[in-house]
Amino acid sequence: MPNGLRALEAIRPDLKAALLPHHCEHEVTKSYDASGAPNASINASGRARLREHGELVYVPWHRLQSTLAAALPQGVLHTNHRFLGFTEGANGVVAEFETPQGVQKVEAALLLGANGGQSAVREALLADGPPQFLGMAIWRAVRPVPSDWPEVYATYGGLGKAFITSMLKDGETAWQGFAPWSADELDVIGGGRRAYIHNGASDAELAGLDGTQRSREQVGAERIKRCLEAFEGWPQHVRDLVATTDPLAVTEHGQFCREADNCQTYARGRVALVGDAAHLATPFLGQGSSQAIEDGLELGRAVGQHGFSPDALAAYQEVRLPAASEVQRWSVQLCRQCTSGKMDKSEFDVNIEQGFVKRQHAPLHPALAVPTP
Ligand SMILES: Cc1cc2nc3c(=O)[nH]c(=O)nc-3n(C[C@H](O)[C@H](O)[C@H](O)COP(=O)(O)OP(=O)(O)OC[C@H]3O[C@@H](n4cnc5c(N)ncnc54)[C@H](O)[C@@H]3O)c2cc1C
Repeated sequence: MPNGLRALEAIRPDLKAALLPHHCEHEVTKSYDASGAPNASINASGRARLREHGELVYVPWHRLQSTLAAALPQGVLHTNHRFLGFTEGANGVVAEFETPQGVQKVEAALLLGANGGQSAVREALLADGPPQFLGMAIWRAVRPVPSDWPEVYATYGGLGKAFITSMLKDGETAWQGFAPWSADELDVIGGGRRAYIHNGASDAELAGLDGTQRSREQVGAERIKRCLEAFEGWPQHVRDLVATTDPLAVTEHGQFCREADNCQTYARGRVALVGDAAHLATPFLGQGSSQAIEDGLELGRAVGQHGFSPDALAAYQEVRLPAASEVQRWSVQLCRQCTSGKMDKSEFDVNIEQGFVKRQHAPLHPALAVPTP
């Protein structure tokens, strides 16, 4: 969103520049109902209205992540480290990670939990339980575009149940299907309470509900089967797109959120929450990444002003809590309206009327650049 891009530019102008080549144009939008009959498209005009407030850039999640990762100094990013817990002392935090080499302890001045909607840092800090399941399953994949695929960007269905395809670069397309899913069956999909599983099956799925060990291919094939069952009777080319996807490419999970009123702590002592860990919303405003980037900017500003201290985290919370809460409130509300079939405002209207896409961000002054701890 324009506000997120401006925040990225405020952090470091070259970050925005590095992202732009990954933009996938979505100008041509086609909209159909669940039977494949054309609908009037609202998206093209909605996007044009958003663009009045700045640039609108569509970048696949993995490209955003790898672009930001590439901008980090060498040696600071350690993948394959699963956060387990932390202890806080007067002058710092010791965090524990499970790694391929065993459990490792890391000492630091601050701990920032930017680990998504199912954040283990949040659980360790606030112990406020898992997020709320919204009664919806989501299947997604990135795959090569079939040679006879007719669309550039298309949405099928509508409120409560939808299938969306987006053209990416390099001959790839992304598809996502949203469908109602019973809370009683939550442990059947995507290993249960896991919001983002990008590399195929989780340990829980491989172990199987009945304890029978399965391969990653089997888990992927079962996800495709469930997706096809959810979209039974939908246009054949949509079903074929799902059926011919590499099973290892398919992600599957429930849609979760938290109410803004239950997310009124972003920081405590030397530990802070960032992005979805702090304010998990729903995909309905398209603001998730932009809000996470705004958090990063204000965290940088606060650490620049107060050093690596609890004061910095308190200052970060003071700025970001009211701003991110407002987005979260509207996002959850829109999702509720959508699943109940009564959406009286579009995501475009809310983003513009509430001023989310109009937000401006002062650049991080070089004198406020984050000091080395
Ligand atoms: C279906 C769907 C569509 C969406 N569409 C959009 C959209 O169009 N635009 C938009 O802006 N947002 C969208 N969002 C929301 C967006 O994806 C999130 O808001 C955004 O990714 C949040 O960033 P984050 O860094 O806080 O968390 P994440 O992107 O979830 O990243 C968290 C990271 O933490 C890691 N992690 C998790 N647990 C641990 C652990 N214990 N130890 C170590 N690491 C861990 C994860 O592997 C991951 O890399 C969508 C979300 C969904 C579900």
